[in-house]
Amino acid sequence: MPFSAFGLHPLLQRGAEALGFERPTPIQQEAIPPALEGRDILASAMTGSGKTAAFALPILHRLGDRPRGTTRALVLTPTRELAAQIDEHFRDLGGHTRLTSATVFGGLSMRPQEQAFRRGVDVIVATPGRLLDHMRFPYAALGGIEILVIDEADRMLDMGFLPDVRRILRQIPADRQTLFFSATMPPPIVSLSREMLRNPVTIAIQRKSAPATGVTQAAWPVPAQLKPALLAELVKSGRIRSVIAFTRTKHRANRLADYLSKNGVVAGRIHGNRSQNQRTQALGGFKAGKFPVLVATDIAARGIDVEALSHVVNFDVPKCAEDYVHRVGRTARAAATGDAFLFFSPEEEADVRGIERAIGKRLPRLTLPEFDYTPRPAARPQAPVHPRRPSLSANRDGGGGAGRAARRRGRGTGGRRSAAQPGPGRRGSERHAPGRRASTR
Ligand code: AMP
Repeated sequence: MPFSAFGLHPLLQRGAEALGFERPTPIQQEAIPPALEGRDILASAMTGSGKTAAFALPILHRLGDRPRGTTRALVLTPTRELAAQIDEHFRDLGGHTRLTSATVFGGLSMRPQEQAFRRGVDVIVATPGRLLDHMRFPYAALGGIEILVIDEADRMLDMGFLPDVRRILRQIPADRQTLFFSATMPPPIVSLSREMLRNPVTIAIQRKSAPATGVTQAAWPVPAQLKPALLAELVKSGRIRSVIAFTRTKHRANRLADYLSKNGVVAGRIHGNRSQNQRTQALGGFKAGKFPVLVATDIAARGIDVEALSHVVNFDVPKCAEDYVHRVGRTARAAATGDAFLFFSPEEEADVRGIERAIGKRLPRLTLPEFDYTPRPAARPQAPVHPRRPSLSANRDGGGGAGRAARRRGRGTGGRRSAAQPGPGRRGSERHAPGRRASTR
């Protein structure tokens, strides 16, 4: 099915073509026609499915013939990065139209945001907290809202934003179209959607807890203290070109980025303790290919959209399978492919099995033949995976001398059988052959 079949305004079609969209993704195919008719939508679709254009195109189309000067569409999304990305998508898709959009999120001055309200930009993309800050003032009365998007509702729930969302809902017109997106539908999200939606078209794009197609997933058994060295080695050897590495805590994100930088691998970092400016610079530098690694905590990195991202590395095993699915969704955007690696220490094996149960398959185990997996007794361990365990919180280094030892060969893999020596540059060739599974079950 071509984009032209939707009957979108020709200028929007040009916008989609300029982005290289040839055919709609499944969520676009299902959501765009009813959204164009003004129907409410309840869609279960994750980042990477093309959901942003699935709501942005109908919004831009419907606002196209409305008078300017009033904000008529509001998109609520959980993180600053997502808000910036959605806004960019609106600008790209609507680049040939006269429609305008603006972001409203914390970490930046209120002033330009206030001006956007006063100008009556057509679309505001906001995080709930900062939007409420503005809504205390008369200039931010959102009485003209005709279309509301709730994006990543389940993550808003995780981040404790649902009360803020409800507060906002009380202050915008009840007579509106609502497009509601959530990767998963836990009970509080189902009840929120029932409160908000009128006779919605329900769309479920993929099975719950199934990562985006096109992702090749594998698990890497490695002692906890050697995780930073293994990541450094994978990048230095060229097996990984560009990677977002997820850590469980801000502290571990800092430690990993420090370790990598000290060991010759430049890494940006994104987490809640970084200023908006620092985050924007890190993301911009990474997107521009200035450095190969972006270290991120889960929440800060949610929804980051990076073209040509070759790998996601789960440096820590996510606590729940759904986080894993979200993280893996960062790579393999739309039709592209990518690899998602899960680093796990012996202590994390049970969590890996939980993920495997949830995704319904066993992840192949990989090892790097030239990497020395022998635990280094002199090395101080990595920062704790569980941040509040006091006995480990004094550790300061990022894996100790692991990098030095990474090039020592022939020490075995701590009881694991290593894969055949991969050919240079053959991504994924280090995979275990069938029947040669590592003994880490
Ligand atoms: P999203 O799920 O909205 O975050 O989008 C995921 C990525 O897919 C973005 O990089 C989009 O630019 C891209 N994308 C969205 N729709 C299409 C399409 N129809 N064809 C190709 N790429 C797309």
